[in-house]
Amino acid sequence: MKIIQSIESLNEYTNQTYPQEIGFVPTMGALHLGHVSLIAQSIKENSITVVSIFINPTQFDQKNDLTHYPKETDKDLDKLRNLGIDAVFLPKYNEIYHDNYNFRIHENQLSNQYCGAHRKGHFDGVLTVVMKLFNLVKPTRAYFGEKDYQQLSLIKNMVAAFFLDLEIVSCPTIRENDGLAMSSRNSRLATEQRNIAAGLYKTISSGLDINEIKERLTHLGFKIEYIEVLDNRLLVAAKLGNIRLIDNIQIKSNKENK
Ligand code: AMP
Repeated sequence: MKIIQSIESLNEYTNQTYPQEIGFVPTMGALHLGHVSLIAQSIKENSITVVSIFINPTQFDQKNDLTHYPKETDKDLDKLRNLGIDAVFLPKYNEIYHDNYNFRIHENQLSNQYCGAHRKGHFDGVLTVVMKLFNLVKPTRAYFGEKDYQQLSLIKNMVAAFFLDLEIVSCPTIRENDGLAMSSRNSRLATEQRNIAAGLYKTISSGLDINEIKERLTHLGFKIEYIEVLDNRLLVAAKLGNIRLIDNIQIKSNKENK
């Protein structure tokens, strides 16, 4: 596994490997089985798999969240070696944002809703870093989780809007045994919060209507940010203490319910 820490080395690598197909999995590290599922899919579908680890500051609306975001680079590198990926890209902030974030991608509609309504500038940061990483890694396919459904939709829309020549592959949400969607932030939950957290998925998938879901989650101790429908999905964001959890499920059509 090649460890690439500069854009210059990445360019050398992509020149060497051209014209082989590159599968790309962008992450912020603290890798768990959700990330592993994206990586496994990429390994299956491409001759080369590149994973990036970059905790992207521009997508954090709360300084505290950025400061406490888990950093486990050595552990992550061991996991990636075991998975058999070809290269990991660990860019530095100054290289990615040599323009001081003066240029950014702004989507004007969906990014103002749901998570975007509660996290100012979040999706500008996400879309900008993803565009930069796509231009650097030049993947044939890039892999994103349905866990972050709004992010996935925005990235698909950005690829279409800018005629980017790559395929976005969406991958299902990987969950803990009790249903909690895996997330790097879960490690920050205290034991009691971790027990309550399982109630998020259980409640949204219980078949109750939105008002009943709100009542039950509030009763369990969640502070709800939003519960809303996007496409055929029910999206939820809720906090336990300072830890913000998001999840979503596919809504069954009337036909399937019968
Ligand atoms: P992150 O490191 O949290 O930025 O996530 C990197 C990628 O992994 C994104 O495409 C996420 O949607 C995806 N991902 C995170 N958690 C999960 C999960 N539990 N199941 C599937 N994909 C996930």
